Amino acid sequence: MSILILIVEDEQDLARTLKYNLEREGYATRCALTASDALLFARQEPLPDLVLLDLMLPDMSGTEVCRRLRQDELTQHVPVIILTAKGEEIDRVVGFEVGADDYVVKPFSVRELMLRVRAILRRAQPEEAALPKDSDVVFGRLRLDVPGYRVWVDEQAVHLTALEFKLLTTLYQRKGRVQSREALLSDVWDITADVMTRTVDTHIKRLREKLGAAGDYIETLRGVGYCFLAAPANE
Ligand code: CA
Repeated sequence: MSILILIVEDEQDLARTLKYNLEREGYATRCALTASDALLFARQEPLPDLVLLDLMLPDMSGTEVCRRLRQDELTQHVPVIILTAKGEEIDRVVGFEVGADDYVVKPFSVRELMLRVRAILRRAQPEEAALPKDSDVVFGRLRLDVPGYRVWVDEQAVHLTALEFKLLTTLYQRKGRVQSREALLSDVWDITADVMTRTVDTHIKRLREKLGAAGDYIETLRGVGYCFLAAPANE
């Protein structure tokens, strides 16, 4: 799936230029001309991987948009690059106070912006938890022998299908991070089809049942997806 960048900019010429250049670099884009559209689009599937945010918007300041993105569970980790006019020193500081990741001063060169976009995306790319090849993964009551496709809960063997095993290890490798059904379909099933998200639900349900006491390690975020706990709860 391509990386989606949400462009929040009310100057249509600049928004078009950004869109053109980002798409030429292989990114997918979506444009919001107002703060309210920005907040709406930021929560819609597919979720943006990065937000370019102008500070001076007609209906709300960019800093307020950034603050709201940071307060929302769904968007709190999305990287934000603020686009600011020269001399907006205070806004610049506030931009960082409200959680922006970087800023560029207008007028900026497209090349400079692209470098920053790439740098931020690289930084934001979370490391997947390594799955050891020569020892078992232990997480609370759960133990995984990854190369052997074997799973134990409280040292009792659990029999998973190859697909369930892939679903479990994919969730585990991204533990602490919400995985949308669309992302799971694309990475576990290698397909992308909105109509098939129920498939994910069905398999998660079966996987949870099989894992018994360890099934709670996979949390449901209603309307969003699933998340393997960052750490096992005290048991
Ligand atoms: Ca503006």
